[in-house]
Amino acid sequence: MRAPGSWIVQARSRVLAVLVALAMNCASTASVQAQAHGVSGQAVYKLTQEYLAAAPKRYIGSPGHAAAENFIKAHFAPEAAKGNLIADNFSARTPIGQLSMTNYIVKFPGKKDGVIVLASHYETNYPLKDIDFVGANDGACTTALLIALGQYYRAHPPQGYSVWLVFDDGEEAVKEWSSSDSLYGTRHLAAKWSGDGTISHIKAFIVADMIGWKSMNITKESNSTPWLLDLLAKAGKDTGHVSYLFRDSQAIEDDHLPFKQRDVPVLDIIDYEYGTPKDPEAFHHTEKDTLDKLSPVSLQVSADLFLDVVKLIDQH
Ligand SMILES: [Zn+2]
Repeated sequence: MRAPGSWIVQARSRVLAVLVALAMNCASTASVQAQAHGVSGQAVYKLTQEYLAAAPKRYIGSPGHAAAENFIKAHFAPEAAKGNLIADNFSARTPIGQLSMTNYIVKFPGKKDGVIVLASHYETNYPLKDIDFVGANDGACTTALLIALGQYYRAHPPQGYSVWLVFDDGEEAVKEWSSSDSLYGTRHLAAKWSGDGTISHIKAFIVADMIGWKSMNITKESNSTPWLLDLLAKAGKDTGHVSYLFRDSQAIEDDHLPFKQRDVPVLDIIDYEYGTPKDPEAFHHTEKDTLDKLSPVSLQVSADLFLDVVKLIDQH
């Protein structure tokens, strides 16, 4: 993902914001327990740890990428048995030639016509393949979050719209971010679902990206559809997590764009800031993006928001 804007507007409030975030992390221990009937942030954290252990480096074509695919598939055996786990293989033209990629789609059928898609990329950044980059926040924790949401919907089948999980491949640039070198998986899927008519059933396409950081604050992402941003704000109120939302606002290029371009309502739930007060991107796309930067509390907040947004879209 990429944010074309600068950090200048946010610089002044950053020190205060970090202090507020630290205070809030203490305050929300109670809500970690209160939301235990949904998805547990602690469980998402543990799944992230297991995913990183099984597949620390997951760049396309690597053994770790294959291990990541196996990890995802292994967690959806019941859905696979029902034909509700789909491997969407495709070949993408990249600056280094054709590369094989695979999106995984897991379907939880609902009661009414229409689909809410929850998506995360599961691979790691290709240009960083030669450093010790594991993408704990960038790809791993949101893959774990989607798996945990799947476990929830397995136990509590959707009563409204169907919920589909999309573990997409090739979100990252292979060489350097551009409209043709990025978002390979979601560009492929949006085109495919346009061709076969699936896209007309999608009520919302919601992306999870980089939302496990200890000091997380979710951006008001301005490429997202306004009514979905409103529902996210309402979810913040419903779940008591309003202080984790919208400290900054900016447009981010992420997996929602190929669907936005085809007029699907989209929402990118993302915290682009990931670093220190002096350097807000210090951990992003570096070997510092490791599990110790994440917290079960932030993952709890993210899980609560996702479950509530899905509920609100059903009622919308
Ligand atoms: Zn990335």
